Amino acid sequence: MNGTVYLVGAGPGAPDLLTLRAARLLERADVVFHDALVHPEIVALATRAIKIAVGKRCGKHSTAQNFINKRLVDAAAVHDVVVRLKGGDPMLFGRAQEEIAALEAAGVRYKVVPGVTAALAAAAQIGTSLTQRGAVRSVTFATPRVADGESTGGWAAGLAAADSGAIYMGTRQADAIAAALMEAGTPGSMPIAVIENASLPQARIVFTTLAALPQLANGTLSGPAVILVGPQFRHRTAAVDAEIERCTTIAREASA
Ligand code: SAH
Repeated sequence: MNGTVYLVGAGPGAPDLLTLRAARLLERADVVFHDALVHPEIVALATRAIKIAVGKRCGKHSTAQNFINKRLVDAAAVHDVVVRLKGGDPMLFGRAQEEIAALEAAGVRYKVVPGVTAALAAAAQIGTSLTQRGAVRSVTFATPRVADGESTGGWAAGLAAADSGAIYMGTRQADAIAAALMEAGTPGSMPIAVIENASLPQARIVFTTLAALPQLANGTLSGPAVILVGPQFRHRTAAVDAEIERCTTIAREASA
């Protein structure tokens, strides 16, 4: 084994949110295995690499994780620089640990390059801090999504116990999320901001409350979205700019 596998965060979407380290690695890469959601302009930075899409898109074809693990190990046997490019940050809901375990078991050298995670891009999009001096001192990263054999409960208690939270992979389960959080003690009046396609030109923002979250019909959102929960995510009219104005219209239509 002479190659190194780099698990690289591609950021939330906008190509210029890629780190310089990631860009330099892509330029040197011999082979790139990328998630389907990674922006084509980012993949295109790997000018000399073989580029292989390895799925991971809700409801669409995706490559089985075991198969990806094996391909990374095999690639390291024949290439010097192998890049596994993942959306956001590899260490947050990115299944990086499964790939790291496979690489370690096979004795393959690896390094992790962080990226901007979706929750941070979402907070930037709405100009609202995830923490707020005097009011919000903790943020929980959570997902209702479970692995095979994992129990479905539990995630909501952690989020409800914190001052605020960011929920990943949750928009198709809006009903269940609202029910679980209210059961765990979060009031129905708790402000919610849903940010779809954060950092991209087609970003959409919906401000709502926990009790009204289920009204976000499945059809309303089609892209990846983060659900931010916390007192600071009340729609701040003082901060309204053209973009938020447009997005609030969408929210009104959705709740009509
Ligand atoms: N490792 C990634 C998360 C992968 S899980 C990260 O750090 O961001 C996939 C989930 O991330 C999606 O279901 C959605 O909740 C969120 N997500 C990814 N890109 C997003 C974007 N541009 N805007 C909003 N949410 C996004």
